[in-house]
Amino acid sequence: MIIFGTRGITSTVKQGQFCCPQCATDKNYKHKKVTRFFTLYFIPLIPLGSAGEYVECQSCKGTFVTRVLEYNPKLSQNSFQSEYEKAMRHSMILMMLADGEIDDKELEIVLQIINKFGHNDMTMTELTDYVDKVQSEGEPVGTYLKKIAPSLNEHGKEVIIKCAVAVAGADGHFDDSEKLLIGEMAQAMEMSNSHLKGILAELANPEPSFSEN
Ligand SMILES: [Zn+2]
Repeated sequence: MIIFGTRGITSTVKQGQFCCPQCATDKNYKHKKVTRFFTLYFIPLIPLGSAGEYVECQSCKGTFVTRVLEYNPKLSQNSFQSEYEKAMRHSMILMMLADGEIDDKELEIVLQIINKFGHNDMTMTELTDYVDKVQSEGEPVGTYLKKIAPSLNEHGKEVIIKCAVAVAGADGHFDDSEKLLIGEMAQAMEMSNSHLKGILAELANPEPSFSEN
């Protein structure tokens, strides 16, 4: 049997110092590029082109669009939100919408997580507006994550899985369809099975850690 497929490989293009919007001070960064390869027996053979690039803060592990390198907090009105934070919000909402209904408990948990992790606080009204927007787009979580995955590092992917599990468990239980969806999310982000199992085992702990390190 011939096993072939494609896989994204991440490499560092450049590194230096930048003003990290999340740390709000100068930190070391790595500018990373993801190249998609054709793989044969899991060995990357032929580069198929760029899948994306991002800037990773070596301190908080946040990932940002490359324009962040031009960011000067004194001059700029723009704020840069880290890519995983955006993806985390979006995928939690998709997770919440997966069963076709949104209850208040779920909304509350999502808002709590956003404001615990987030660096831009959100109100319940902003959240429900955002939910409406995501709902009207109607994109499945797998499709969304596949698109966004090249701008995320391992840290970002883990945060997204952890948050999705928290949303899934908001109603007090974690059922098989939710487990299946989490599996789909991990697959869309090209995470290995053992990586996912490790995260889920960590979360099965009575005191789940949502630390950023
Ligand atoms: Zn940082």
